[in-house]
Parts: sequence; C-alpha cells; structure tokens
Amino acid sequence: MRKGSLIVVSGPSGAGKGTICSAFLEREKNIAYSVSATTRAPRAGEVDGKNYYFVTREQFESMKEHDELLEWAEVYGNYYGTPIKKIQEKIAAGQDILLEIDTQGAMNVKRRFPNGVFVFILPPSLDELQRRIRGRGTEDEKTIEKRLGASVGEIKMASDYHYVIINDEVETAVEKLMAIVTAEHCCASRNQELIDEIAGE
Ligand code: 5GP
Repeated sequence: MRKGSLIVVSGPSGAGKGTICSAFLEREKNIAYSVSATTRAPRAGEVDGKNYYFVTREQFESMKEHDELLEWAEVYGNYYGTPIKKIQEKIAAGQDILLEIDTQGAMNVKRRFPNGVFVFILPPSLDELQRRIRGRGTEDEKTIEKRLGASVGEIKMASDYHYVIINDEVETAVEKLMAIVTAEHCCASRNQELIDEIAGE
C-alpha cells in the first residue's frame, strides 16, 4: 500500500492560506488536517481540537519535553507545534495529511520528510497583503505590525518550497493546490510498488 504524503502549506499572515486550505479540505475529503497545538488565544469562532489545540505554555513545554511534536516554532510571540502521533498513524495507514505551518516549522519537517510536498502561498503584492491583514480585523495593531514586519522574510523563504501559488483569486488557488496534489500522486517515484505489480514482479 502507498504511504500517505505530507502536504505542507505555508505563507505570510494574510496571504489567505487558511481560506485556501479549508476550501481544499472541503473538496478533498480523504485528506486529513493536522491540528496544531498553540499557546495563542483562540480567535472568535475558533474551536479547540478543530482549528487548534489551545494549550498553556506549561502544557506546550511538556509536549516538547515528551517528544510529542514533529516540529515546533515560536511565531509572532506564541508557540505553535505539530503533534506527531496522528501524523505517524495516518501516514502508515496510507492517508495524506495537510499541515498549515510557518516557514521555520516547514523547513524542519522538510529535513525529516524530504518527500513531502511543500507549497508556499504568495499574496499578489505586499500592499495587498497589508490590506487583507488589516481588513480581516482579527488582530490588534501591535500584532498586525509584528505580522507585517515578518512578511518579507517569510516570502523570501518561498524559494525553498517545491511549489508557489499566488492567491489572487481563491478558487483558482484552490484548483492549483488540487492540481499539485494530483500530480504528486502520479509521481513515478511514489508509485514504484504499483509499477512492479503491473509488471508482474
Ligand atoms: P495563526 O495565529 O494566524 O493561526 O498562525 C500563525 C502562524 O503560525 C501561521 O504562519 C501558521 O501557519 C503557523 N502555524 C500554525 N500551526 C503551526 C505549527 O504547528 N507549527 C508551526 N511551525 N507553525 C504553525
């Protein structure tokens, strides 16, 4: 049986990766979402266990100490990390899993899982990024400044990903992500067992 693939999506705050990932998962029902742990406070409407596992700094430290995280990073002043157990189980069961994580975390995952699919979501421009992050009204001014200040450095990291998608239109961006995942499923190197089977070996 083919092992599941890790699909890792990153992008600066406001690029729209959350919207793209939600729409993608809505259509690709057999791809699981990796729910991260974070010390950030929940935003209005966010649900514990669905959007994130909202934990205290102490709980997060304990997860780190007990090797329960595939990767973790401090992003915009809060801790974020990917719980490893479900990922191992799902990949072994042949299920693909989507991680929406920051660039530091993504590069750590790439070292451990170089066969993952690494996708970076770009805004059409820095002005548009600023307009979007201010427009969504979920963060205070200090947090917005922090996120915008980090964006250029994050965008430069896009060169280390396998694919980039410019999010100028959500529908098109989602279709591109679906196309990338379909192409990866057809990759010869991911299908050696199938090739051998059809060749009767
Ligand atoms: P937000 O607070 O807007 O939900 O997320 C802030 C940043 O943290 C985003 O870039 C998001 O992709 C990233 N992030 C979310 N979960 C994780 C995680 O488990 N690990 C890492 N390294 N970054 C994460």
